[in-house]
Formats: sequence, structure tokens, C-alpha cells
Amino acid sequence: MPVIYWDRIEGLYCKCTKGDIAIFKILENCIKCIWCGNEIKCIPPIEFVWKEKCENCEGKISTFIIDSAGNKVCSRCGSFK
Ligand SMILES: [Zn+2]
Ligand SMILES: [Zn+2]
Repeated sequence: MPVIYWDRIEGLYCKCTKGDIAIFKILENCIKCIWCGNEIKCIPPIEFVWKEKCENCEGKISTFIIDSAGNKVCSRCGSFK
């Protein structure tokens, strides 16, 4: 399961990974994969993370975050739900 720390989130799906193993740094207006630099626009702090299929990721399972504004964002493609 993904774990949210104060400065990062571990256990997310990303474009650069096959599984939910990516680590994203939490920045001011996005989260950013520490390996490939993939930036996912959102408004930290991140409230919650869960797994669900993403239509924009060819229906593959991904992780979604809920940010402080209530946006639901796919951590792989950055699309809003
Ligand atoms: Zn990545
Ligand atoms: Zn997606």
C-alpha cells in the first residue's frame, strides 16, 4: 500500500514503473517522481491515495491521489478524475 510521508509518497504507479513502486517528492504545486521527473499537478498536502483503473492509462490499474482541494489525480498520467 502507498505510504504518505510529509515530504514524499512511496508506492505509487508512474509512467516509468511497471508496479506501484515509484517514490514521488511532494513539492509546492505538484508531486514529482524521483526517478523519471514525471510531474503530477496537484495541491499538496495529499490527503489520501488509493488504487483504481485509469481510463487514460488504457484501463490499467493505477494509483490516484486526493489533494487538499479535493482533486482526484492519476499518479501515472496526471489526468483528473
Ligand atoms: Zn517515474
Ligand atoms: Zn492515468
